[in-house]
Amino acid sequence: MENAPNENFATLLSPIQAGQTRVRNRVIMGSMHTRLETEPDGIAKQIAFYAERARGEAAILVTGGFSPNAEGIFDPEGPRIDDLEAAMELRPICEAVQAEGSLMCAQLLHAGRYAKIENCVAPSPIRSPINRFVPREMTDEDIRRTIDDFASAAANAKAVGFDGVEIMGSEGYLINEFTVLHTNKREDDWGGSAENRHRFPVDIVRAVRERCGPEFLIIYRISAADLVDNGAPTEEITALARKIEAAGADILNTGIGWHEARVPTIAYQVPRGAWRNAAANVKAAVSIPVVASNRINTPEMAEEILASGDADMISMARPFLADPHFVRKAREGCAEEINTCIACNQACLDFIFSDLPVSCLVNPKAGRETEFRDTPSENPKKVAVVGGGAGGMAAAAEAARLGHDVTLFEAADKLGGQLNLARAAPGKDEFDETMRYYSGQMKKHGVDLRLAHRAGAEDLEGYDHVVIATGVTPRVPELPGIDHPKVATYAEILSGEREAGETVVVMGAGGIGHDVAEFLVTAPAEVHNLGVFCDTWGVDPKFAVSGALAGDPLGLKSSRRNVVMLQRKNSKPGAGLGVSTGWILRNALRKHGVEALGGIVYDRIDDAGVHILVDGKPKVIAADTIVLCTGQESERDLAADLATRGVTVTMIGGAKEAAELDALRAIDEGMRLAQSL
Ligand code: NAP
Ligand code: SF4
Repeated sequence: MENAPNENFATLLSPIQAGQTRVRNRVIMGSMHTRLETEPDGIAKQIAFYAERARGEAAILVTGGFSPNAEGIFDPEGPRIDDLEAAMELRPICEAVQAEGSLMCAQLLHAGRYAKIENCVAPSPIRSPINRFVPREMTDEDIRRTIDDFASAAANAKAVGFDGVEIMGSEGYLINEFTVLHTNKREDDWGGSAENRHRFPVDIVRAVRERCGPEFLIIYRISAADLVDNGAPTEEITALARKIEAAGADILNTGIGWHEARVPTIAYQVPRGAWRNAAANVKAAVSIPVVASNRINTPEMAEEILASGDADMISMARPFLADPHFVRKAREGCAEEINTCIACNQACLDFIFSDLPVSCLVNPKAGRETEFRDTPSENPKKVAVVGGGAGGMAAAAEAARLGHDVTLFEAADKLGGQLNLARAAPGKDEFDETMRYYSGQMKKHGVDLRLAHRAGAEDLEGYDHVVIATGVTPRVPELPGIDHPKVATYAEILSGEREAGETVVVMGAGGIGHDVAEFLVTAPAEVHNLGVFCDTWGVDPKFAVSGALAGDPLGLKSSRRNVVMLQRKNSKPGAGLGVSTGWILRNALRKHGVEALGGIVYDRIDDAGVHILVDGKPKVIAADTIVLCTGQESERDLAADLATRGVTVTMIGGAKEAAELDALRAIDEGMRLAQSL
């Protein structure tokens, strides 16, 4: 029986008509590359992955992109759907999703000049800055064949059992390459005027509709803001939207920004709901449902966008990695139990770019559904967890959920550990959601919480299992003058315990060094401020002009402080940052005038500042404050004490290994340990 929608999310959860089909609510799980298809047992893993999200009540699930032909594959391993016999193995995925009451759509994506293959094709032979392969210019015959390939691919999807397709017309892939002057320099019927540039997508939609009939759902993903030079102005986007509607599409999803754009679109630095006006522009032009997407990660934000009339539906992708049951929880009135996507990209996009199957920092079960069990333990144990940071919270919450009797000791008077520091970096207060989620889960499953209680060996008697999640402390390197009053640790600065002066040297240019530098140069009022975001990255907030680019995206911004970052390694400072967010951080710091020096040798610290050697020559960098971001050391005193008493413990997170510690590893280890008890 359908429950009544939660009154707070009345619009979000109300059903909608899309073409011939009544859709269970207004939430689409957007397309994501998962790489699960390349895994052993790939079909079983995809069934588990998608069915879980359908059980969580996403109305329409869109797969990762399938190429309609050989030239359109993303990379040599890229999935395609041009062979019906091979595609039939996808049928059980569709059936599993449909059995849970959701619709399953296959995304048709021709990668165009983004295809990482020798013989990639494009409207014009212009190489993309993010691909080393130069595309071949498509002939008229190629173009007509490709339109037919899209129709055949859609027919294959229909024969497999998909309810519909999403035709990928955004993000700079082939279709998008045809629609804008940035990449379409043709002088034939497929280039020049907007009418000609739009012919390719319009003919594709028309061909798919003709081949698949009126009942088949067609979603077209339109580029609502290209964010590249010579991208489409609003009047071209809305004209295309009207033509796509007339050609037979049922729903218009909106895509934001090409992959080569130098504007962040989905990372934590982007204010929530930043792109809603782009969807609103499209909605004003058509009568079919229009979908808003990108940086919408809470039911409240989704509801606000729908209630304001900016869009008819919401597409979320990463939020369904973080919590497959996002919609169900909103409907049942327990939105506070949603594990919120924090837009870090660390285990979704960064994994995909490293050829790993997709997962999620806050939910390690994502993409690994078959590795975790949901059934309660048959042998409940009495478990002590020492340390309430990310790893400890995850271990305690999961162990208690599985039926163990769990006590968590935390020396501080609040939970969160290092997350309380990480959250201070601009935009990273999204970590508050992670702390809310895990502390809520601990409460829900009855963890006995002992805050402001530094556990000693005597507290840990009588437990079947002791988990040490005591974390890390900042490393203080040995250097003459390191105890100078100007020197502070990153923990002292990020916690607010100490305030930096106007001129700052940051020692260490790793992840924390960069976060601290950004914290030091960014005024609090700039964070989450859409106007400042648009100004910083050169975006037209009305999305009216060509490519929605305005202003000077390379221009310097005002800075609260003068900051210099130092690193001993010769590599480029920041080279080890996440693939999908590192460039944003490096650019943001450059815009704020932060200087980063690599290949230096530390000499000493004194009243004058930090003395270093650059290419063997001495140099002094003046500083009011010197912030140590020089790594961490494991906090293991308790573990050592317990070992001398013969108590067996399991260490996780930073206590186990300080190097390369992040919340991703800590939560994963905590969760897996709880499952293994
Ligand atoms: P990190 O990335 O390992 O950086 C520590 C820095 O300290 C290194 O750059 C190292 O560079 C320097 N260092 C180490 N020992 C030193 C010594 N004895 N004297 C002087 N300098 C020394 O560690 P982190 O910045 O503390 O970050 C911790 C973890 O959090 C990392 O795994 C990181 O990936 C993650 N994190 C990531 C991000 C992000 O991607 N945005 C943000 C925050 C944290 P040199 O030795 O070359 O000087
Ligand atoms: Fe969201 Fe980060 Fe999880 Fe990706 S890894 S889905 S960005 S929380």
